[in-house]
Amino acid sequence: QSQELSQVRIDYHAALMALQEQGTRMVCTGKMHTDRICRFDYLCYCTEAEEFIFFHSNASVMLPNLGSRRFQPALLDLSSVEDHNTQYFNFLELPAAALKYMPKPVFVPDVTQILNRFNPDNLMHIFHDDLLPIFYTMQQYSDLDDEARLVFMEGWGEGAHFDLYRLLSSKQPLLKDHLRNFGKLMCFTKSYVGLSKMTTWYQYGFVQPQGPKANILVSGNEIRQFASFMMGRLNITQEQRPEDDDYIVIFSRASNRLILNEAELILALAQEFKMRTVTVSLEEQTFDSIVQVISGASMLISMHGAQLITSMFLPRGAAVIELFPYAVNPEQYTPYKTLASLPGMDLQYVAWRNNIEENSVAYPDRPWDQGGITHLEKEEQERILASKEVSRHLCCRNPEWLFRIYQDTVVDIPSFLEVLREGLKVKPNLKKSKPISTVHPGRVREPKCQTSVQATNEAKLAVSWQIPWNLKYLKVREVKYEVWIQEQGENTYMPYILPHQNYTFSENIKPFTTYLVWVRCIFNKNLLGPFADVLICKT
Ligand code: UDP
Repeated sequence: QSQELSQVRIDYHAALMALQEQGTRMVCTGKMHTDRICRFDYLCYCTEAEEFIFFHSNASVMLPNLGSRRFQPALLDLSSVEDHNTQYFNFLELPAAALKYMPKPVFVPDVTQILNRFNPDNLMHIFHDDLLPIFYTMQQYSDLDDEARLVFMEGWGEGAHFDLYRLLSSKQPLLKDHLRNFGKLMCFTKSYVGLSKMTTWYQYGFVQPQGPKANILVSGNEIRQFASFMMGRLNITQEQRPEDDDYIVIFSRASNRLILNEAELILALAQEFKMRTVTVSLEEQTFDSIVQVISGASMLISMHGAQLITSMFLPRGAAVIELFPYAVNPEQYTPYKTLASLPGMDLQYVAWRNNIEENSVAYPDRPWDQGGITHLEKEEQERILASKEVSRHLCCRNPEWLFRIYQDTVVDIPSFLEVLREGLKVKPNLKKSKPISTVHPGRVREPKCQTSVQATNEAKLAVSWQIPWNLKYLKVREVKYEVWIQEQGENTYMPYILPHQNYTFSENIKPFTTYLVWVRCIFNKNLLGPFADVLICKT
């Protein structure tokens, strides 16, 4: 495919006049460099200097105008990985008058999204750091549509799965290296710089050991909408299969982190679940055909690794079984567990770990990045070999972690089946699994309290309310109410769960006392509504 910029002809003279007279304009969202996305008119890029350029004129706008705080540490993160010092974006400034002395700019007429991919050779990173954030940044800005141009500035080549990036828009994405082909000075007519981090759920351990993000803002719904967009673009349709044609997918790795007794595992699964098993690997199948198979599977079994990101294509109700090599604690490496457990993903998740050292094959002689340890001091090698579990560590070059995670494994069938029987609460079942409602109750209406004093040490507090307004339009399996009662001045409260719209409290209610009462509605045990305004009730 050629790197033709556009079929849309632009009036070169008019564009050049606009740039010279109006200069660059920037308006951003976000308070911090970590949550900022900026929209530019006429942001330019100098391919010789490898710098973006902001041209000042009388009509320029720069919001936020941070002064030199723009360099503390940067204007924004160019990738979706938070505050990574290799992923910062900034620009140089020049007066628009300097254009007279510069090479003639080449204008990019498309609306452009400029970003860094984080690790385009790894499938997990491709989906989590790039594709999902790009997709949802595009949803945030309506002019980033199917005609938008993606520009990847991290400086890598296409990477292992460039075709996946091509699915996001009808235009060929540009790499940093491509830009020089267009000339010395490129000016993006309209561009967005940065990525939404709203959909990411995992942090890779640059400042603290890896784990789920502290404040996850994405639900299974958005992941599944993205997954079905991708399936649509890949021309994958979920074919209707007969009721009883359930199957299990083993996603294996052909070059490292192998399952050494796959045949035995398949046999055991057939006996246990009465299902056939399909094996796939990125070495043997195309990505499209793998997604096709996974999108109809009841269970996905795989060693820990990037290929497990494809669990987002499993149907609701399916199970993800993640296998961990010897001395690796599953609780500490949870990108796929976190994904499967997002509300509304509706996947079951089970982790199995190899506890039998003899069932593990390690590769101390390999290069360090494939888990080799022979480059280390003898003592350190011995310590690693004797260790029964990798302790918590930072990303990305911990030799003990790499040594352990790149082991091959003979899966011990009895312990594997036991973990499955224990972990799968219900038989993985796709047919019955419909999306569960995520509609939250509104506030209860007209909350009231009435009090009465029975005796010097006896009082009653009657609380009543009306159903939330939206309930009359909903079919809800279980509607309950939660009432909190706090004696004024105390710092604890008593919570009650109630089935009806009124209740008279007499236990623990004292005469001549002021109580604060909050009421809210709860659907299906876990969908909490907001509290109504506090009631002030004097006995
Ligand atoms: N990979 C693969 N087969 C293998 C080993 C790796 O397909 O035998 C893929 C893997 O799914 C990932 C990429 O190669 O997309 C890099 O793998 P690596 O082991 O570096 O990362 P990890 O899977 O541990 O995230």
